[in-house]
Order: sequence, then structure tokens, then C-alpha cells
Amino acid sequence: MSHLVTSRTRVFGLLGDPVRHALSPVVQNAAFQEAGVDGVYVSLLCKVDDLQGCIRGIGGAGGGGNLTLPHKERAATLVDRPSDAVRRIGACNTFWEEDGKIVGDNTDIEGFRRALREFLGRSPEGYRVLMIGAGGAARASLLALLEDDVQEVVITNRTAERARAVSRRIGGERTRVADTINDLQGGSFDLVVNTTCLGLSEDDPLPFDLSRLDRAGAVMDLVYGPNGTRFVEVARDLGIKATDGGEMLVQQGAVAFERWWGVAASLPAMKAALAAARNLPV
Ligand code: NAP
Repeated sequence: MSHLVTSRTRVFGLLGDPVRHALSPVVQNAAFQEAGVDGVYVSLLCKVDDLQGCIRGIGGAGGGGNLTLPHKERAATLVDRPSDAVRRIGACNTFWEEDGKIVGDNTDIEGFRRALREFLGRSPEGYRVLMIGAGGAARASLLALLEDDVQEVVITNRTAERARAVSRRIGGERTRVADTINDLQGGSFDLVVNTTCLGLSEDDPLPFDLSRLDRAGAVMDLVYGPNGTRFVEVARDLGIKATDGGEMLVQQGAVAFERWWGVAASLPAMKAALAAARNLPV
């Protein structure tokens, strides 16, 4: 990095456990450098018990950051000023300090929306959607889909009760829960979204067997990796248009950058950095 790090440099951290897979530092530091702002962004392994101290310490020093798995729901309860979005979905992925208070926002909602539009080339209005997973990323994606006027979202999750809780909290009448995988046999969906963390590790099973469906118009995997994901590969082998979470990573990061610096981020710089990082041997 050519920028000189001094005692005035604002420090931003990605707090998670694990965080070694994360490409946010690559993407954010590219945006910082392109904008010429005096900041540095690092991954910080943070255990659940240390979360409050990390958020307060980094925010109090004039920095900020992002939350990833497994911290988003807990962080929503720890920040002083949660945004309306954080209150609505109970998950926080971005924080910084203002006037001595820690502000929390959720940029996954807008990040998902922008990435999905870029992928589909249109709004998902009127779509029937199958959503796999019911964690923090699922809540953000569900809200974005409902706000974009999808017709219906069916949620399936390993823990069905968690899916029902998400449906009750955010979904309203346009959301329903598939209690068992058999309920989805022969289903027809315009879009399938994986919001589970399955695919982060190469040994993971696939999040869902797409061949059970009669039709899947498109597949969006929120997981990303240096070489894409196996779920995306399998979808493409079945002739389904598919993308991984790389675009969402950039888009949610660009919204976070705007919150921290008050100016727009350079999407081309972020995308170029991500592409370069993905071509590196792992
Ligand atoms: P989370 O709140 O911990 O939720 C994890 C989800 O994965 C839950 O639905 C959980 O099911 C499911 N799951 C975990 N292990 C499983 C297993 N062995 N079998 C079946 N289901 C399993 O995590 P999150 O914050 O929502 O993040 C989820 C994923 O989205 C992560 O991989 C994250 O990297 C990705 N993400 C990407 C972006 C992006 O910008 N591309 C943004 C946000 C998130 P249970 O409820 O049964 O535990």
C-alpha cells in the first residue's frame, strides 16, 4: 500500500470468526486508496465475548468496521444507535462512531438489492423465490426482495423454527416456510438464493439439491470464494444462470464506505481488486 499510515489514520476492522476467508480488506483498501482517504481496513478475528469491546474500542478511536458471521445479530443489540434497517431485521453489519455514540447500520440489504439487479439485469418484481437459510444474511435479503415486490418467498432452513421466526418478523403474507425438503420436490422458482454459509469450506455439502426442483430460473449464492462456489458450478452445469456473492461483497462494501467517509466509493477499483485477489493462488 503506497499510502502512509500515521497516528491519524482511521482503522477499520472486519470482526468475525472465522475471518481468514474474507476478501473485504482487499476490496475496501482498494476503495480507500482510490479515494485518497486516510484509513486502513483489516480482518480481526473476534470471539463472541470480545465483540462489545472490539466495537467500542475501534469506534471510540475514530474508526469503524463490519460484522460478519457469527456477530451480526448480537451486534444489533450492542450498538447505541441502530438504524431503522437494523431494528427491523435485528442484524447489523456496519458500525462507526458519531458524537461519542456507536452507530449501527445494515448495508447487506442495499448490497443484495444492487447485486441482484446487476445479475438479473432487471428488478425481481413478481418473482417466486426459494431462500435457503434463515440467519442474518437471509433477513437482509428477504427484506430487499419484499421491498422489490417479489410475489412470494419460500424459506427452507436446517432449523425450521428459525425460518419461522424470520418469516414472522419480516415476511408477512408473502413468505412461507417449507418444513421439510420434500415440500419443495417439483417446485418452480424464478430465483434460488443461498444465504447459508455452506460452501465457505471446500468439504461442505451443497446447500440444496437443485435437481429436486422442476425449474430454477436463476441461482444467487451469497457465499463467495477465490474460485467461486461449488453451488454455482453445479447450477451452471444444470444450465441455470448463476452467480456467487462477489458482486454483493462489493456493493455492500460500497454502501459501508459511504457511511464512513461521506463520499461514494469507486466500484471499478473495488471490482478490479476483487478480480485480482481471486486470481491469486490459494
Ligand atoms: P448466520 O446468521 O450464522 O446464518 C447461517 C445460516 O447457515 C443459518 O441459516 C444456518 O442454519 C445455516 N447453516 C450453517 N451451517 C449449516 C449446515 N451445516 N447445514 C445447513 N445449514 C447450515 O450467518 P450469516 O451472517 O447469515 O451469513 C451466511 C453466509 O452469507 C456466510 O457465508 C456469509 O459469508 C455470507 N454473506 C455474504 C455476503 C456478501 O456480501 N457476499 C454478505 C452477507 C453474508 P441454522 O439456522 O440451522 O443454524
